[in-house]
Amino acid sequence: MAELEQQRILKTAIPGPRSLELMARKTDAVARGVGTTMPVFAVAAGGGVVVDVDGNSLIDFGSGIAVTTIGNSAPRVVAAVQDQVERFTHTCFMITPYEGYVAVAEQLNQLTPGDHEKRTALFNSGAEAVENAVKVARTYTKKQAVVAFDHAYHGRTNLAMALTAKSMPYKHGFGPFAPEVYRAPLSYPYRDDKLIDGELAARRATNLMESQIGPENLAAIIIEPIQGEGGFIVPADGFLPALAEWCRSNNVVFIADEIQTGFARTGAMFACELFDVVPDLIATAKAIAGGLPLSAVTGRAELMESVHVGGLGGTYGGNPVACAAALAAIETIKAENLVTRAGEIERIMLGRLHRMQAEDNRIGDVRGRGAMIAVELVQRDTTDPDPGLTAAVATVAREKGVIVLTCGTYGNVLRFLPPLSISDELLNDGLDVLADAFSAT
Ligand SMILES: *Cc1c(COP(=O)(O)O)cnc(C)c1O
Repeated sequence: MAELEQQRILKTAIPGPRSLELMARKTDAVARGVGTTMPVFAVAAGGGVVVDVDGNSLIDFGSGIAVTTIGNSAPRVVAAVQDQVERFTHTCFMITPYEGYVAVAEQLNQLTPGDHEKRTALFNSGAEAVENAVKVARTYTKKQAVVAFDHAYHGRTNLAMALTAKSMPYKHGFGPFAPEVYRAPLSYPYRDDKLIDGELAARRATNLMESQIGPENLAAIIIEPIQGEGGFIVPADGFLPALAEWCRSNNVVFIADEIQTGFARTGAMFACELFDVVPDLIATAKAIAGGLPLSAVTGRAELMESVHVGGLGGTYGGNPVACAAALAAIETIKAENLVTRAGEIERIMLGRLHRMQAEDNRIGDVRGRGAMIAVELVQRDTTDPDPGLTAAVATVAREKGVIVLTCGTYGNVLRFLPPLSISDELLNDGLDVLADAFSAT
Protein backbone atom coordinates (compact mmCIF):
# COMPACT_ATOMS: atom_id res chain seq x y z
CA MET A 1 0.00 0.00 0.00
CA ALA A 2 1.16 3.53 -0.78
CA GLU A 3 2.70 5.50 2.09
CA LEU A 4 0.15 7.64 3.85
CA GLU A 5 0.69 11.37 3.76
CA GLN A 6 1.99 12.33 7.21
CA GLN A 7 -0.27 15.32 7.73
CA ARG A 8 -3.43 16.29 9.54
CA ILE A 9 -6.03 16.72 6.80
CA LEU A 10 -9.65 17.70 7.44
CA LYS A 11 -11.91 17.21 4.41
CA THR A 12 -15.23 17.08 6.26
CA ALA A 13 -16.49 17.81 9.74
CA ILE A 14 -15.43 15.17 12.26
CA PRO A 15 -17.29 12.83 12.11
CA GLY A 16 -17.95 13.01 8.38
CA PRO A 17 -21.04 11.72 6.56
CA ARG A 18 -19.72 8.22 5.82
CA SER A 19 -18.67 7.75 9.45
CA LEU A 20 -22.13 8.88 10.55
CA GLU A 21 -23.73 6.28 8.25
CA LEU A 22 -21.50 3.56 9.69
CA MET A 23 -22.22 4.70 13.25
CA ALA A 24 -25.94 4.26 12.54
CA ARG A 25 -25.26 0.70 11.37
CA LYS A 26 -23.08 0.11 14.43
CA THR A 27 -25.86 1.26 16.73
CA ASP A 28 -28.26 -1.23 15.14
CA ALA A 29 -25.82 -4.16 14.99
CA VAL A 30 -23.26 -3.90 17.79
CA ALA A 31 -24.00 -4.22 21.49
CA ARG A 32 -23.98 -0.73 22.99
CA GLY A 33 -21.78 -1.95 25.85
CA VAL A 34 -18.95 -1.79 23.32
CA GLY A 35 -18.39 1.96 23.29
CA THR A 36 -16.25 4.08 20.94
CA THR A 37 -14.13 7.09 21.85
CA MET A 38 -14.68 8.75 18.48
CA PRO A 39 -17.55 8.10 16.04
CA VAL A 40 -15.02 7.88 13.23
CA PHE A 41 -14.39 4.77 11.14
CA ALA A 42 -10.85 3.98 10.04
CA VAL A 43 -9.73 2.74 6.62
CA ALA A 44 -5.95 3.03 6.89
CA ALA A 45 -3.28 3.95 9.42
CA GLY A 46 0.49 4.26 9.56
CA GLY A 47 3.32 6.49 10.72
CA GLY A 48 1.46 8.93 12.94
CA VAL A 49 -1.94 9.14 11.22
CA VAL A 50 -5.26 7.33 11.07
CA VAL A 51 -7.23 7.93 7.84
CA ASP A 52 -11.02 7.75 8.08
CA VAL A 53 -13.75 6.73 5.64
CA ASP A 54 -14.35 10.37 4.69
CA GLY A 55 -10.73 10.96 3.71
CA ASN A 56 -9.77 12.84 6.88
CA SER A 57 -6.29 12.19 8.21
CA LEU A 58 -6.17 12.29 12.01
CA ILE A 59 -3.08 12.60 14.20
CA ASP A 60 -2.82 9.47 16.30
CA PHE A 61 -2.14 10.22 19.97
CA GLY A 62 -3.64 6.89 21.04
CA SER A 63 -1.91 4.04 19.17
CA GLY A 64 -5.08 1.99 19.65
CA ILE A 65 -4.37 2.17 23.42
CA ALA A 66 -0.61 1.69 23.35
CA VAL A 67 -0.76 -1.21 20.89
CA THR A 68 0.70 0.11 17.62
CA THR A 69 3.75 1.50 19.38
CA ILE A 70 6.00 0.72 16.39
CA GLY A 71 3.42 2.23 14.02
CA ASN A 72 0.38 0.78 12.31
CA SER A 73 0.99 -1.81 9.59
CA ALA A 74 4.73 -1.52 10.28
CA PRO A 75 6.54 -2.87 7.20
CA ARG A 76 8.35 -5.75 8.94
CA VAL A 77 5.12 -6.84 10.62
CA VAL A 78 3.21 -6.74 7.32
CA ALA A 79 5.85 -8.87 5.57
CA ALA A 80 6.15 -11.38 8.41
CA VAL A 81 2.38 -11.78 8.71
CA GLN A 82 1.93 -12.21 4.96
CA ASP A 83 4.62 -14.86 4.87
CA GLN A 84 3.22 -16.77 7.85
CA VAL A 85 -0.43 -16.55 6.79
CA GLU A 86 0.43 -18.25 3.49
CA ARG A 87 2.21 -21.13 5.22
CA PHE A 88 -0.25 -21.95 8.00
CA THR A 89 -2.61 -19.99 10.20
CA HIS A 90 -3.06 -22.37 13.13
CA THR A 91 -2.17 -25.82 14.32
CA CYS A 92 -2.57 -25.19 18.07
CA PHE A 93 0.77 -25.06 19.87
CA MET A 94 -0.54 -27.67 22.32
CA ILE A 95 -1.02 -30.17 19.44
CA THR A 96 1.78 -29.66 16.89
CA PRO A 97 4.06 -26.83 17.97
CA TYR A 98 5.98 -24.43 15.70
CA GLU A 99 9.21 -22.47 15.96
CA GLY A 100 7.74 -18.96 16.07
CA TYR A 101 6.25 -19.50 19.54
CA VAL A 102 9.57 -20.75 20.89
CA ALA A 103 11.42 -17.83 19.28
CA VAL A 104 9.04 -15.30 20.89
CA ALA A 105 9.57 -17.00 24.28
CA GLU A 106 13.34 -16.82 23.79
CA GLN A 107 13.13 -13.11 22.93
CA LEU A 108 10.97 -12.32 25.96
CA ASN A 109 13.20 -14.33 28.30
CA GLN A 110 16.15 -12.32 27.06
CA LEU A 111 14.55 -8.85 26.87
CA THR A 112 12.62 -8.71 30.17
CA PRO A 113 14.40 -7.38 33.28
CA GLY A 114 16.75 -9.70 35.19
CA ASP A 115 19.39 -12.14 33.98
CA HIS A 116 18.02 -15.15 35.90
CA GLU A 117 16.74 -18.19 34.04
CA LYS A 118 13.23 -17.60 32.70
CA ARG A 119 10.32 -19.30 30.97
CA THR A 120 7.44 -17.82 28.98
CA ALA A 121 3.88 -18.87 28.16
CA LEU A 122 1.81 -17.13 25.48
CA PHE A 123 -1.87 -16.18 25.50
CA ASN A 124 -4.22 -13.89 23.55
CA SER A 125 -5.14 -10.87 25.65
CA GLY A 126 -3.77 -8.85 28.52
CA ALA A 127 -6.47 -10.05 30.89
CA GLU A 128 -5.58 -13.64 30.09
CA ALA A 129 -1.92 -12.99 30.84
CA VAL A 130 -2.87 -11.42 34.18
CA GLU A 131 -5.06 -14.41 35.10
CA ASN A 132 -2.28 -16.85 34.22
CA ALA A 133 0.36 -14.93 36.16
CA VAL A 134 -1.86 -15.29 39.24
CA LYS A 135 -2.30 -19.02 38.54
CA VAL A 136 1.48 -19.45 38.45
CA ALA A 137 2.00 -17.44 41.65
CA ARG A 138 -0.65 -19.44 43.51
CA THR A 139 0.76 -22.78 42.37
CA TYR A 140 4.32 -21.84 43.29
CA THR A 141 3.59 -20.32 46.70
CA LYS A 142 0.65 -22.62 47.59
CA LYS A 143 -1.01 -19.42 48.86
CA GLN A 144 -4.18 -17.71 47.61
CA ALA A 145 -4.45 -13.99 48.35
CA VAL A 146 -3.54 -11.41 45.72
CA VAL A 147 -3.02 -7.69 46.26
CA ALA A 148 -3.75 -5.06 43.63
CA PHE A 149 -3.46 -1.31 44.09
CA ASP A 150 -5.70 1.75 44.10
CA HIS A 151 -6.49 2.99 40.56
CA ALA A 152 -5.27 -0.31 39.06
CA TYR A 153 -6.49 -1.64 35.73
CA HIS A 154 -5.83 -5.28 34.91
CA GLY A 155 -8.58 -6.19 32.42
CA ARG A 156 -12.16 -7.32 32.11
CA THR A 157 -12.32 -11.08 32.77
CA ASN A 158 -13.62 -12.13 36.17
CA LEU A 159 -10.36 -12.25 38.13
CA ALA A 160 -8.99 -9.26 36.21
CA MET A 161 -12.15 -7.27 37.04
CA ALA A 162 -11.64 -8.09 40.71
CA LEU A 163 -8.09 -6.76 40.44
CA THR A 164 -9.23 -3.62 38.61
CA ALA A 165 -10.12 -0.73 40.91
CA LYS A 166 -12.65 1.39 39.05
CA SER A 167 -16.28 0.33 39.15
CA MET A 168 -17.84 2.34 36.31
CA PRO A 169 -17.62 1.12 33.57
CA TYR A 170 -15.42 -1.91 34.16
CA LYS A 171 -17.15 -3.71 37.06
CA HIS A 172 -20.54 -2.07 37.51
CA GLY A 173 -23.22 -4.76 37.68
CA PHE A 174 -20.85 -7.60 36.80
CA GLY A 175 -20.23 -9.14 40.24
CA PRO A 176 -19.73 -11.34 42.13
CA PHE A 177 -15.99 -10.98 41.67
CA ALA A 178 -13.21 -13.48 42.36
CA PRO A 179 -12.42 -13.84 46.07
CA GLU A 180 -9.08 -13.39 47.86
CA VAL A 181 -8.30 -10.10 46.13
CA TYR A 182 -7.25 -7.18 48.35
CA ARG A 183 -6.46 -3.56 47.58
CA ALA A 184 -3.50 -1.56 48.83
CA PRO A 185 -2.75 2.16 48.60
CA LEU A 186 -0.54 3.33 45.73
CA SER A 187 2.12 6.02 45.59
CA TYR A 188 0.43 8.94 43.81
CA PRO A 189 2.85 11.88 44.12
CA TYR A 190 0.44 14.55 42.85
CA ARG A 191 -2.25 13.58 45.38
CA ASP A 192 -0.22 12.16 48.27
CA ASP A 193 0.79 14.31 51.18
CA LYS A 194 4.15 15.86 50.23
CA LEU A 195 5.78 14.18 53.25
CA ILE A 196 5.04 10.73 51.85
CA ASP A 197 8.04 9.66 49.81
CA GLY A 198 8.29 6.38 47.92
CA GLU A 199 9.49 4.36 50.87
CA LEU A 200 6.79 5.65 53.18
CA ALA A 201 4.16 4.97 50.54
CA ALA A 202 5.50 1.41 50.25
CA ARG A 203 5.35 1.00 54.02
CA ARG A 204 1.75 2.23 54.01
CA ALA A 205 0.98 -0.62 51.58
CA THR A 206 3.03 -3.32 53.29
CA ASN A 207 1.59 -2.40 56.71
CA LEU A 208 -1.85 -3.04 55.29
CA MET A 209 -0.75 -6.35 53.79
CA GLU A 210 0.79 -7.45 57.06
CA SER A 211 -2.17 -6.49 59.23
CA GLN A 212 -5.13 -7.30 56.94
CA ILE A 213 -3.89 -10.31 54.96
CA GLY A 214 -0.68 -11.72 56.42
CA PRO A 215 2.26 -12.62 54.19
CA GLU A 216 1.70 -16.32 54.96
CA ASN A 217 -1.61 -16.04 53.03
CA LEU A 218 -0.42 -13.73 50.26
CA ALA A 219 0.61 -15.33 46.96
CA ALA A 220 1.35 -12.21 44.93
CA ILE A 221 1.08 -8.50 44.47
CA ILE A 222 0.34 -7.23 40.98
CA ILE A 223 1.21 -3.69 39.95
CA GLU A 224 1.57 -1.55 36.84
CA PRO A 225 4.99 0.18 37.19
CA ILE A 226 3.33 3.25 35.65
CA GLN A 227 -0.44 3.01 35.82
CA GLY A 228 -2.34 3.11 32.56
CA GLU A 229 -6.14 3.54 32.76
CA GLY A 230 -5.74 4.72 36.36
CA GLY A 231 -4.19 7.99 35.16
CA PHE A 232 -0.58 7.46 34.04
CA ILE A 233 0.48 7.66 37.66
CA VAL A 234 4.26 7.49 38.06
CA PRO A 235 5.05 6.29 41.60
CA ALA A 236 7.55 8.17 43.77
CA ASP A 237 11.16 6.98 43.61
CA GLY A 238 11.80 4.11 45.96
CA PHE A 239 8.19 2.87 46.03
CA LEU A 240 8.56 -0.08 43.65
CA PRO A 241 11.99 -1.23 44.92
CA ALA A 242 10.70 -1.20 48.53
CA LEU A 243 7.66 -3.25 47.53
CA ALA A 244 9.83 -5.71 45.61
CA GLU A 245 12.16 -6.04 48.58
CA TRP A 246 9.24 -6.70 50.94
CA CYS A 247 7.93 -9.37 48.54
CA ARG A 248 11.35 -11.07 48.42
CA SER A 249 11.54 -11.20 52.22
CA ASN A 250 8.03 -12.63 52.53
CA ASN A 251 7.89 -15.23 49.75
CA VAL A 252 5.33 -13.10 47.90
CA VAL A 253 5.51 -13.08 44.09
CA PHE A 254 6.00 -9.62 42.55
CA ILE A 255 4.00 -9.46 39.29
CA ALA A 256 4.62 -6.47 37.03
CA ASP A 257 1.71 -5.74 34.71
CA GLU A 258 3.60 -4.17 31.80
CA ILE A 259 0.76 -4.66 29.38
CA GLN A 260 0.52 -0.92 28.67
CA THR A 261 4.07 0.15 29.57
CA GLY A 262 6.01 -2.57 27.74
CA PHE A 263 7.98 -2.63 24.49
CA ALA A 264 9.77 0.74 24.37
CA ARG A 265 6.70 2.79 25.25
CA THR A 266 8.22 4.46 28.33
CA GLY A 267 11.73 5.08 27.00
CA ALA A 268 12.94 1.70 28.23
CA MET A 269 12.12 -1.71 26.82
CA PHE A 270 10.13 -2.30 30.04
CA ALA A 271 9.17 0.33 32.62
CA CYS A 272 10.53 -1.78 35.52
CA GLU A 273 14.00 -0.85 34.24
CA LEU A 274 13.28 2.84 34.96
CA PHE A 275 12.80 2.00 38.63
CA ASP A 276 15.50 -0.66 38.95
CA VAL A 277 13.10 -3.44 39.86
CA VAL A 278 13.26 -7.00 38.63
CA PRO A 279 9.82 -8.60 38.80
CA ASP A 280 9.35 -12.32 39.45
CA LEU A 281 6.67 -12.46 36.75
CA ILE A 282 5.90 -9.95 34.03
CA ALA A 283 2.65 -9.81 32.04
CA THR A 284 2.88 -8.30 28.57
CA ALA A 285 0.44 -7.78 25.68
CA LYS A 286 -0.68 -4.66 23.74
CA ALA A 287 2.46 -3.53 21.84
CA ILE A 288 3.96 -7.02 21.77
CA ALA A 289 2.90 -7.89 18.22
CA GLY A 290 2.37 -4.69 16.24
CA GLY A 291 -1.43 -4.89 16.59
CA LEU A 292 -2.07 -8.61 16.44
CA PRO A 293 -3.59 -10.24 19.51
CA LEU A 294 -0.91 -11.83 21.66
CA SER A 295 0.07 -11.76 25.33
CA ALA A 296 2.66 -13.39 27.52
CA VAL A 297 3.69 -14.26 31.04
CA THR A 298 7.45 -14.36 31.48
CA GLY A 299 9.17 -15.15 34.74
CA ARG A 300 11.61 -16.95 36.95
CA ALA A 301 12.02 -20.52 35.74
CA GLU A 302 11.34 -22.06 39.14
CA LEU A 303 7.99 -20.23 39.35
CA MET A 304 6.91 -20.89 35.78
CA GLU A 305 7.92 -24.56 36.01
CA SER A 306 5.89 -25.14 39.20
CA VAL A 307 2.71 -25.58 37.16
CA HIS A 308 1.88 -29.17 36.09
CA VAL A 309 2.01 -30.13 32.40
CA GLY A 310 -1.20 -29.05 30.69
CA GLY A 311 -2.00 -26.47 33.38
CA LEU A 312 -1.31 -23.49 31.12
CA GLY A 313 -2.49 -22.95 27.56
CA GLY A 314 -5.49 -22.17 25.39
CA THR A 315 -6.64 -22.91 21.84
CA TYR A 316 -5.22 -19.77 20.24
CA GLY A 317 -2.47 -18.86 22.71
CA GLY A 318 0.67 -17.96 20.78
CA ASN A 319 -1.05 -18.08 17.39
CA PRO A 320 1.59 -18.47 14.65
CA VAL A 321 0.59 -15.30 12.77
CA ALA A 322 0.70 -13.28 16.00
CA CYS A 323 4.09 -14.81 16.85
CA ALA A 324 5.49 -13.87 13.44
CA ALA A 325 4.20 -10.33 14.03
CA ALA A 326 5.80 -10.22 17.49
CA LEU A 327 9.21 -11.24 16.18
CA ALA A 328 8.96 -8.55 13.51
CA ALA A 329 7.82 -5.96 16.05
CA ILE A 330 10.75 -6.71 18.36
CA GLU A 331 13.14 -6.54 15.41
CA THR A 332 11.64 -3.15 14.47
CA ILE A 333 12.14 -1.77 17.99
CA LYS A 334 15.81 -2.78 17.85
CA ALA A 335 16.54 -1.80 14.24
CA GLU A 336 14.85 1.60 14.50
CA ASN A 337 16.17 2.43 18.01
CA LEU A 338 12.65 3.04 19.20
CA VAL A 339 13.62 3.06 22.87
CA THR A 340 15.69 6.16 22.11
CA ARG A 341 12.87 7.61 20.02
CA ALA A 342 10.49 7.30 22.97
CA GLY A 343 12.93 9.43 24.99
CA GLU A 344 12.94 12.10 22.28
CA ILE A 345 9.15 12.16 22.24
CA GLU A 346 9.18 12.55 26.04
CA ARG A 347 11.42 15.61 25.78
CA ILE A 348 9.24 17.28 23.15
CA MET A 349 5.95 16.54 24.91
CA LEU A 350 7.03 17.36 28.47
CA GLY A 351 8.66 20.59 27.32
CA ARG A 352 5.56 21.84 25.56
CA LEU A 353 3.09 20.59 28.19
CA HIS A 354 5.06 22.22 31.01
CA ARG A 355 4.92 25.50 29.09
CA MET A 356 1.15 25.10 28.71
CA GLN A 357 0.91 24.37 32.45
CA ALA A 358 2.83 27.55 33.29
CA GLU A 359 0.09 29.54 31.54
CA ASP A 360 -2.93 27.56 32.67
CA ASN A 361 -3.35 26.45 36.27
CA ARG A 362 -6.14 24.07 35.32
CA ILE A 363 -3.27 21.78 34.27
CA GLY A 364 -2.53 20.47 37.75
CA ASP A 365 0.09 17.91 36.85
CA VAL A 366 2.19 16.95 33.83
CA ARG A 367 3.71 13.50 34.09
CA GLY A 368 4.80 10.32 32.36
CA ARG A 369 7.78 8.68 30.73
CA GLY A 370 8.72 8.20 27.11
CA ALA A 371 5.70 8.32 24.82
CA MET A 372 3.33 7.69 27.74
CA ILE A 373 2.55 11.23 28.89
CA ALA A 374 -0.48 12.76 30.58
CA VAL A 375 -1.89 15.94 32.05
CA GLU A 376 -4.19 15.87 35.06
CA LEU A 377 -6.80 18.62 34.95
CA VAL A 378 -8.23 20.36 38.00
CA GLN A 379 -10.52 23.26 38.93
CA ARG A 380 -8.61 26.54 38.91
CA ASP A 381 -6.40 27.10 41.97
CA THR A 382 -7.33 23.75 43.55
CA THR A 383 -6.46 20.09 43.09
CA ASP A 384 -10.14 19.13 42.64
CA PRO A 385 -10.49 16.94 39.56
CA ASP A 386 -12.19 18.51 36.53
CA PRO A 387 -13.59 15.72 34.35
CA GLY A 388 -15.86 18.21 32.53
CA LEU A 389 -12.91 20.28 31.32
CA THR A 390 -11.08 17.08 30.38
CA ALA A 391 -13.97 15.88 28.22
CA ALA A 392 -14.38 19.34 26.67
CA VAL A 393 -10.70 19.70 25.71
CA ALA A 394 -10.67 16.15 24.30
CA THR A 395 -13.79 16.89 22.22
CA VAL A 396 -12.32 20.07 20.73
CA ALA A 397 -9.02 18.31 19.93
CA ARG A 398 -10.83 15.41 18.29
CA GLU A 399 -12.96 17.74 16.16
CA LYS A 400 -9.72 19.34 14.97
CA GLY A 401 -8.35 15.97 13.96
CA VAL A 402 -6.32 14.72 16.90
CA ILE A 403 -7.13 11.37 18.51
CA VAL A 404 -6.74 11.88 22.27
CA LEU A 405 -7.83 9.56 25.04
CA THR A 406 -8.84 10.29 28.61
CA CYS A 407 -8.28 8.16 31.70
CA GLY A 408 -7.99 8.34 35.46
CA THR A 409 -10.18 7.28 38.36
CA TYR A 410 -11.76 10.77 38.32
CA GLY A 411 -11.91 10.97 34.50
CA ASN A 412 -9.69 14.08 34.60
CA VAL A 413 -6.56 12.90 32.81
CA LEU A 414 -5.75 13.47 29.14
CA ARG A 415 -3.30 10.80 28.07
CA PHE A 416 -1.02 10.78 25.08
CA LEU A 417 0.29 7.57 23.54
CA PRO A 418 1.63 8.51 20.10
CA PRO A 419 3.19 5.77 18.02
CA LEU A 420 6.98 5.95 18.08
CA SER A 421 6.81 6.23 14.28
CA ILE A 422 5.22 9.70 14.50
CA SER A 423 7.24 12.58 13.01
CA ASP A 424 8.26 15.59 15.10
CA GLU A 425 6.14 17.76 12.79
CA LEU A 426 2.97 15.77 13.45
CA LEU A 427 3.71 15.59 17.16
CA ASN A 428 4.08 19.36 17.32
CA ASP A 429 0.99 19.94 15.20
CA GLY A 430 -0.98 17.72 17.59
CA LEU A 431 0.35 19.71 20.55
CA ASP A 432 -0.60 22.98 18.80
CA VAL A 433 -4.15 21.67 18.45
CA LEU A 434 -4.14 20.76 22.11
CA ALA A 435 -2.90 24.21 23.15
CA ASP A 436 -5.68 25.78 21.05
CA ALA A 437 -8.21 23.44 22.63
CA PHE A 438 -7.16 24.66 26.09
CA SER A 439 -7.48 28.28 24.98
CA ALA A 440 -10.93 27.60 23.53
CA THR A 441 -12.37 25.92 26.63
C1 LIG B 1 -5.07 -3.12 28.55
C2 LIG B 1 -4.56 -3.60 29.84
C3 LIG B 1 -4.93 -4.86 30.36
C4 LIG B 1 -5.91 -5.76 29.68
O1 LIG B 1 -5.51 -6.14 28.40
P1 LIG B 1 -6.57 -6.73 27.38
O2 LIG B 1 -5.77 -7.17 26.21
O3 LIG B 1 -7.53 -5.62 27.06
O4 LIG B 1 -7.26 -7.86 28.08
C5 LIG B 1 -4.34 -5.24 31.56
N1 LIG B 1 -3.47 -4.46 32.20
C6 LIG B 1 -3.11 -3.25 31.74
C7 LIG B 1 -2.10 -2.44 32.49
C8 LIG B 1 -3.65 -2.77 30.55
O5 LIG B 1 -3.32 -1.56 30.10
